[in-house]
This record gives sequence, C-alpha cells and structure tokens, in this order.
Amino acid sequence: MMRKTALCLNEGCGEWVDKRHLEDHRRSCPYRRARKCPFFDCGRWIEAERIERHVDSCKFGSRVECEWCFRQIAQPDMAAHRLRCLVRPRGDNKDN
Ligand SMILES: [Zn+2]
Ligand SMILES: [Zn+2]
Ligand SMILES: [Zn+2]
Repeated sequence: MMRKTALCLNEGCGEWVDKRHLEDHRRSCPYRRARKCPFFDCGRWIEAERIERHVDSCKFGSRVECEWCFRQIAQPDMAAHRLRCLVRPRGDNKDN
C-alpha cells in the first residue's frame, strides 16, 4: 500500500517521515541545517530559518539592488536571486 512519506532533506538525516509530521520533524530534526552568512567578513552560522533576517541586518553586508524587483539583495546572493527573481524578464524581450 502507498504510504505518504517524504524524505527529510537535511543532509545527514535522510529519514522518511509521514508527510503530516514533516514540518514538525524539520523543526526538531537533529540535522537541520545552519547556513553560513554569505558575507565573508561575518561568516557566522545561523539557523536556516533566521538566515534571511540575519543577512538583512548583518553589519558586514554590502547589498545591491536587484534591477528587476528593486529589492536590496546581499551581494553574494545576487546570482542566486536573479535565477528566482519574481519579476525576472522572460527570454522573449521584444522591446519597442
Ligand atoms: Zn531530518
Ligand atoms: Zn552576517
Ligand atoms: Zn529581483
């Protein structure tokens, strides 16, 4: 029979969890990821859920404005941001 399980994506965990419990599991997963602040001079490890907040306020941060959505993005994240920017122009630019 089919079981609705999902794989916990935290590296090193690899546990199959009932989908209903996945959120709970992620929150308490012993392998949940901390992410490194992208700013080289800072380099602190921050819990994944808090990394965006931290990056926004990191005093080591230099930010650049996205030319498409005008959000201030941490410079090291810009390449990644451009790939998923919500207002990213599509390939077919038929301007004027
Ligand atoms: Zn896990
Ligand atoms: Zn930082
Ligand atoms: Zn953008």
